[in-house]
Amino acid sequence: MTTFHRAVLNFETKCEERNVPKETVMAYLVEISQRERYNLYANFDQEMPKELEEEFSNGMQRILNQEPMAHVLGYSWFYGYKMIANPTVLIPRYETEELCANVLARIDELFMDEEKIVCADIGTGSGAIAITLVKEESKISMYATDISGEALETAKQNAEMNEADITFLQGDMVQPIIDANIKLDVLVCNPPYIPEDETMEESVIDYEPHVALFGGQDGLKFYRSVFENCKKVLKEKSFMAFEMGWNQRESMEKLLHEYFGDVNYEIMKDINGKDRMLFVYFGCE
Ligand code: SAM
Ligand code: GLN
Repeated sequence: MTTFHRAVLNFETKCEERNVPKETVMAYLVEISQRERYNLYANFDQEMPKELEEEFSNGMQRILNQEPMAHVLGYSWFYGYKMIANPTVLIPRYETEELCANVLARIDELFMDEEKIVCADIGTGSGAIAITLVKEESKISMYATDISGEALETAKQNAEMNEADITFLQGDMVQPIIDANIKLDVLVCNPPYIPEDETMEESVIDYEPHVALFGGQDGLKFYRSVFENCKKVLKEKSFMAFEMGWNQRESMEKLLHEYFGDVNYEIMKDINGKDRMLFVYFGCE
């Protein structure tokens, strides 16, 4: 028998020893107890129910072994929507919520008068971006692609769970959009962008699909693929929005120049002040 307080302190200490962020302990407890944080704190000295104590202890053991909390729970939250998380897909990141918010803002500005906005999420993974956009903007008609059949299965389950109407297509980057002869107002893409030889945290490298992480020698392989083919799928007035690595500004600007010459673009920072999003505009003057 233990109190909430003692159990939390115990695992916070263990987290520090194992280099796991100790905030994970309360975050995990909030999820499995289905109680608000303030409610847990208000009852911190009470005995923890036996079943909860067991679940907490088992789950924390896995988290201490570097397994992502989202895998232990089987889900994570993205833009307020619940997403199934499993080893077939990248666990959606906070930075990507910012990408969605900015895409929605630009859609409001640029396509205010349109009745229907055709949008594609390339490399959809869990489906997090596609689901969020279509739930938040009812004028969007959404396509989502991935090379991974397993990822698409998870994305379909997530779309169903969130009642999001999305057409899923399997294939290499924009190729399925070309094949289906779809013309887009908006192309969104969070491609794998980690350079091949980069060292990464254990919890990412051991548990997340490598097909979702690595973007060739310099991390830019998939941007090249989209830049090369985008004119085949974009309407004259359209924009593309990408997530990018915090240290890729210079090489990205070079690449943009190479493919599009003098093009209208912006690189936006994330909440941590790091270069994180690339928006490229065509015919939007
Ligand atoms: N869109 C999701 C998100 O933002 O959380 C997942 C992004 S993850 C960084 C990149 C995704 O691209 C993975 O789901 C991976 O399977 C997919 N992918 C990798 N290579 C691809 C390719 N050649 N064509 C299409 N998708 C690809
Ligand atoms: N941001 C992810 C990470 O750091 C990588 C996402 C990506 O390559 N698009 O693990």
